[in-house]
Amino acid sequence: ATPTALLVGTGRGAQQGILIKGPEVLEASTGIDAVVLDKTGTVTTGAMQLTSLLSARQWGGEYEDTELLRLAGSLESASEHPVAHAITNAARESLGSRSGSLPQPENFRNYAGTGVSGEVSGHRVLIGKRRLMGTAGVELPSEVQNLVTEAESRGSTAVLVAIDGVFAGVITVSDTVKETSAEAIEQLVRLGMEPLLLTGDNAGAAHRVADEVGITSVVAEALPEDKVATIRALQSEGKTVAMIGDGVNDAAALAQAELGIAMGTGTDVAIAAADITIIRGDLRSAADAVRLSRRTLRTIR
Ligand code: ADP
Ligand code: MG
Repeated sequence: ATPTALLVGTGRGAQQGILIKGPEVLEASTGIDAVVLDKTGTVTTGAMQLTSLLSARQWGGEYEDTELLRLAGSLESASEHPVAHAITNAARESLGSRSGSLPQPENFRNYAGTGVSGEVSGHRVLIGKRRLMGTAGVELPSEVQNLVTEAESRGSTAVLVAIDGVFAGVITVSDTVKETSAEAIEQLVRLGMEPLLLTGDNAGAAHRVADEVGITSVVAEALPEDKVATIRALQSEGKTVAMIGDGVNDAAALAQAELGIAMGTGTDVAIAAADITIIRGDLRSAADAVRLSRRTLRTIR
C-alpha cells in the first residue's frame, strides 16, 4: 500500500502547479545530485525573434529578402520549433495583410536537431545548420562561414537557407533567459545538484545563456541521441540525474534520467516521457518539486 504521506505529497504538488505522475516519483527525487537543463524553452523563454536576415544576392543569389523570407516562413509554418516560429512570425509581419498567402509546404521533413526541408510554391527549400547544407551538397560562399561564426559568438542562432539546392541566405534568431531562471538554478545548486546546460544549439548561444544564469558546464551541438549519452555518462560517473526539458528532442533524455521534469509549456512528447510536469514553465518549480519530495519522505522515514 502507498503510504498516505506520499499521496498527500503528490496532492500538495498539484496545488503548487507541479504534476507528479505517481507516488513512487517522490522517492526517485531524493538522491539527485546532478541536474541537466535544456536551453531553449527551458532556461530561455523559447519565444525566439528573428534578429537578422541576409539574402545571398551579393553572391549572385536569385532571391531578395522578401521572397527569401516568404519561402522560409512558409516552410517553417509546418515546424513547432522555436527557430521556426521566429521565422514564420517575421514572414507574416513582413507580408502584412497578404500573409494569408503564406502557402503550406509539401513533402515537409524534419531533421532532428539540424533543420527542415520541403517544397514551397514549386521550390525545394532547406533550412538549418551548416551540417545539413553539407549533407545536401549545398555549396556555401567562403564568407558565410565567418558570418555564422560571428553571429554565434554574439550568442545568436544562425540558420542557413537553400532554395532548389542553391544557397539563398542566412537568418539569425535569438531569445531571452526567463526572469526566474537564474534564481531557480541557484536554488537547485543549494539543494546539492550540479547543473549542466545541454543544447542542440551552437556553443556561442549556449555559453551566453549559461553565463547569464550561473552555469559553468555546457554541452552544445547535441543531437537527441547525444542528449541521452550525456545523461548516461553522468550516471556512469555515479551521479543520480534530473533532466529538465521541453522539446521532442529532450524526450529520450527525460526518460533516461532518474527524474525527468517537463515544462508544461513544452511538447506533449516531453510531457509524456517525464515523471513530473511543471505547469507554468517557471524553473523555480523544479526546486520546489525536489524540496517537496524530500520533505514528504522525511515524514515517512
Ligand atoms: P535545443 O536543444 O536548443 O532545443 P534543437 O536540438 O531542437 O535545440 O535544435 C538545434 C538546432 O537545430 C537549432 O539551434 C537550429 O540550428 C536547428 N534547427 C532545429 N529545428 C529547426 C528548424 N525548424 N528550422 C531551422 N533550424 C532548425
Ligand atoms: Mg527546448
